[in-house]
Amino acid sequence: MHPALVPVFDDLVARNPGEVEFHQAAREVLESLGPVVSKHPEYADAEVIRRLCEPERQVIFRVPWTDDAGRVQINRGFRVEFNSALGPYKGGLRFHPSVYLGIVKFLGFEQIFKNSLTGLPIGGGKGGSDFDPKGRSAGEVMRFCQSFMTELYRHIGEHTDVPAGDTGVGQREIGYMFGQYKRITNRYESGTFTGKGLSWGGSRVRTEATGYGLAYFAERVLSASGTGLDGRRVVVSGSGNVAIHAIEKVHQLGGRVVACSDSDGFVVEESGIDVDLLKEIKNGRRGRIVDYAEERGAPFTPGGDIWSLPCDVALPCATQNELGVDGAAALIRGGCVLVAEGANMPTSPDAIRALRQAGVAFAPGKAANAGGVATSALEMQQNASRDSWGFEHTEERLAEIMASIHDRCLETADEYGSPGDYTAGANIAGFTKVADAMLALGVV
Ligand code: NDP
Repeated sequence: MHPALVPVFDDLVARNPGEVEFHQAAREVLESLGPVVSKHPEYADAEVIRRLCEPERQVIFRVPWTDDAGRVQINRGFRVEFNSALGPYKGGLRFHPSVYLGIVKFLGFEQIFKNSLTGLPIGGGKGGSDFDPKGRSAGEVMRFCQSFMTELYRHIGEHTDVPAGDTGVGQREIGYMFGQYKRITNRYESGTFTGKGLSWGGSRVRTEATGYGLAYFAERVLSASGTGLDGRRVVVSGSGNVAIHAIEKVHQLGGRVVACSDSDGFVVEESGIDVDLLKEIKNGRRGRIVDYAEERGAPFTPGGDIWSLPCDVALPCATQNELGVDGAAALIRGGCVLVAEGANMPTSPDAIRALRQAGVAFAPGKAANAGGVATSALEMQQNASRDSWGFEHTEERLAEIMASIHDRCLETADEYGSPGDYTAGANIAGFTKVADAMLALGVV
């Protein structure tokens, strides 16, 4: 790390004790910024990086609700409004028992750079709760969402802070939250949420966008070396929103996804995962991967390491730090040429180092999975103009945005002396745009 940034990182750790995921995300960005600080001392002089590491606002609140047995349950809600230099805070809500302030801050911090990279006018934020939707009835999920929004509504708005989905929060949960927001505020303010249903202000392609965008990004990385996804053997972890649509687009681009997973284990299907059945089981029946495996007569491995499967391309689409150094070693042995992150920070720092040393191309989430938030910004545009675009037009916009993010990463990496390093390119390009806006806005 550049010597000027060491005290910034040390202070961040001291001021945010125990928030290891936030430390990890911040370290990764700060380690990339050395060449920027050397070239542009004005950023260090104005303490822009130190300011960027401190969220503009953090809200933590109680979420009381009643379960089906009539018992009162209490969860904790979070919204970290990290940076609004480029636009309203924008970023999803995650409902998962692992959620605490450190996870929300890591996600919010990543979101600043990701959103900047899209080229669209959106700041960075993130939120969620330690609520576990698994095994809860629709009524319980609705009551939880209503209680969550009864507090959060006062902090959000189409020009202020615009939440969306993330792990555990899909269109159903967005619907319950938007419905409660509408009741409390007495306003049909569609632009306050993205990821909405089509009949109530949603955008075409938003559901598919993160996974589709990831596949487009992977295609472009491979085409830089004269190939593409066509004929490639691909392994995808997870089986949620991002994973399902990544599988779908990889298949459309001629690749073959032979495995996917959930937190119980993974399924292998050499002829390719049947994405329609997967959607039906996961979204329609809220089932598990083991149900998919049973229905297809395909082998299911409980627990296990999906990265031990040989593949050309690996797309981690489940959760943070799911691909460690052992997984990276197995992927290298199995002939993997590209790891592109669909999830946020799924690859641990030592795994990234191992992949790089072995010459495996690596596309970081803040670039490769930016298609979701980019299409959310397109949803905001449609809401603002009370318009609704067709599928093809919206998907074309998504494809253009992914291509432009890819190219900007490579150009920036070249400019700052790290050719081919997508992580350096994404961090630096994302950073400089936000930093310039912050300088222009005074000491903010
Ligand atoms: P979902 O809740 O729809 O799906 C998450 C999937 O990951 C589930 O299949 C879940 O399985 C699985 N999973 C979670 N933990 C593990 C684990 N330890 N091992 C194996 N599988 C696991 O979430 P999303 O698809 O929306 O999000 C996935 C990732 O992508 C997150 O990191 C999110 O932040 C990121 N992301 C999402 C965007 C979006 O638009 N939705 C945008 C950009 C990034 P189980 O059901 O067993 O928990």
